[in-house]
Amino acid sequence: MGVTQTPTETIDSQIDLFHSRLRDVIGVAKWETWIKPLTASFEDSGLQLVAPNRFNATWVRDNYTHQVREIAGSVWPEPFDVMITVTTESPQPPSVAVAPYQSTLDVSAPPGTGSAPSRYDTSNLVARYSFENFVVGPSNRFAHAAAQAVAEQPGRQYNPLFIYAAAGLGKTHLLHAVGQHRLELDPTTIVRYVTSESFFNDFINSIRRKRMDDFKSRYRKVGLLLLDDVQFFERKEQVLEEFFHTFNSLYEVGNQMVISSDRAPKELRTIEDRLRSRFEWGLTTDIQSPDVETRLAILRKNASTNPTPVPPEVLEFIAENVADNIRELEGALTRVTAFSTLTNEKVTLDLALSVLRDVVGLQSVAPLTADSIISTVSQYFEIPQAEMTGSSRRQPLARQRQVAMYVCRELTGLSLPKIGAAFGGRDHTTVMHAVDKITGLIQTDKAVFDDVSAITQELRTT
Ligand code: ADP
Ligand code: MG
Repeated sequence: MGVTQTPTETIDSQIDLFHSRLRDVIGVAKWETWIKPLTASFEDSGLQLVAPNRFNATWVRDNYTHQVREIAGSVWPEPFDVMITVTTESPQPPSVAVAPYQSTLDVSAPPGTGSAPSRYDTSNLVARYSFENFVVGPSNRFAHAAAQAVAEQPGRQYNPLFIYAAAGLGKTHLLHAVGQHRLELDPTTIVRYVTSESFFNDFINSIRRKRMDDFKSRYRKVGLLLLDDVQFFERKEQVLEEFFHTFNSLYEVGNQMVISSDRAPKELRTIEDRLRSRFEWGLTTDIQSPDVETRLAILRKNASTNPTPVPPEVLEFIAENVADNIRELEGALTRVTAFSTLTNEKVTLDLALSVLRDVVGLQSVAPLTADSIISTVSQYFEIPQAEMTGSSRRQPLARQRQVAMYVCRELTGLSLPKIGAAFGGRDHTTVMHAVDKITGLIQTDKAVFDDVSAITQELRTT
């Protein structure tokens, strides 16, 4: 008897059997995430499995085709086709121009945090952190696909999306990309990118000012919340309690959350179980260190927007020698092109070797701390260490402090908030500003370039 003639109730129970066998083979958790959302039915052409979105369909096709066919073959012995398709309701991303997202965004920097440069106050999304600028490789393919899926269909299957990775591997970039892509698809979405530290400060300030109602409504009306570096909440009971409620109210109405962390949820030991388990309700994914091809592709992409031509062997040399952190990778290329611009020399392998001699081949020295950097930079500029972390903004101290922050960002895995904390409790936006400032200056001011090089060499070789 052909499959298509089987009575409906038999087909239903066969489909149940198909599901339960598949669940046994691939495990409950994976089944729940990937197979359960599929609607199974019989069409003339065979068994059709309809996924709620492209991401789900692609994932099943790439990873479970073999098991699906085998189990289907055990339930229905007659040969037939298995098709994995996407529901037609699934919105295809329209090709719209980039939305003027600045105007639809709330300002998340807590009031009164002072010296933050204005462009970070008016928009929380940084345009260069887009999907377009994100190079996909084996190390980040899954995280990238998941991020695209939630941007296209927020609040459905993968809520929250939890992305974890070591520093400098693209978490922040992906969070911003989700926000921007969402706004391209629907400019009316209320998107909010916020670091966990800003959320915390905002919370504390709201308590102080007795404005908790404002705080609650501000966060609970967000349609897409991008919360960066959630490990910052560890051991902060009050804010954890508050975020637990924020989470619940966003989740209940189907508003999407994307959360990043430097560790997997189960490693966030001091975060109580009820919140930790919620982090795992949706989809959890990590990002690994990029392989050499991905590193090379990232460098090529960066070099293509840089006016200084960089020969392929130099890109290969950097890709092969700067291995574990994309921020460092970008820093190395900047260093080489900056030196070439400043000295009017062409970029060659020899030039790259001499500029990067302090970086290359010394990857395994003990990790640097903010304190050791502050101490080295203070000695280098011959100023007392207390000045470095103090509040004075006189020159040249302020510039020297920016150099120290830049070096911290480049050479340690520390987040912006952690660096701010090490420099006498400064806001992360101040650190961001310092990093941008020095990144610009090392390309235009030879003295700054020399300072950064000398300090890096000192730190790398001691
Ligand atoms: P994290 O938040 O994990 O510490 P970031 O998102 O800040 O890391 O990434 C560090 C730098 O590396 C940023 O300049 C970012 O644009 C870049 N970067 C990270 N991943 C990629 C990628 N896959 N393609 C291109 N650039 C990347
Ligand atoms: Mg980050």
